[in-house]
Amino acid sequence: MDRNWLNERLLTEADRLENVQLVFEHKLLTCDVENGSLTFLYQGKEKNVKADVIIGADGVYSQVRTGLMRKVRYPRSRL
Ligand SMILES: Cc1cc2nc3c(=O)[nH]c(=O)nc-3n(C[C@H](O)[C@H](O)[C@H](O)COP(=O)(O)OP(=O)(O)OC[C@H]3O[C@@H](n4cnc5c(N)ncnc54)[C@H](O)[C@@H]3O)c2cc1C
Repeated sequence: MDRNWLNERLLTEADRLENVQLVFEHKLLTCDVENGSLTFLYQGKEKNVKADVIIGADGVYSQVRTGLMRKVRYPRSRL
């Protein structure tokens, strides 16, 4: 499957929804999962955002996962 096509299609469908806001050029710096607090870099400045629900989809070097790993500890038997 062509990934550009898939990305365009997903963005187009999401953009049609009234309760979805698309933002670009925001680099996630830190994710505090306990407080639902996210810090982004946008136009050279830090921008803080609060969220009730955070879905991490920021790839292999995910800052969301890093934030989660600071708080979530798995029992050794589950590793
Ligand atoms: C060369 C290559 C070929 C591949 N070929 C295939 C294939 O043929 N078939 C297959 O199934 N899989 C393939 N994969 C794997 C596939 O690309 C990944 O598994 C998939 O893209 C992961 O999706 P994702 O949404 O988790 O992350 P990604 O697709 O990596 O998306 C992460 C998004 O988060 C953004 N992002 C990252 N960091 C931040 C940040 N700090 N702040 C804000 N945004 C951020 C990125 O810009 C990106 O838009 C390939 C991977 C590579 C590298």
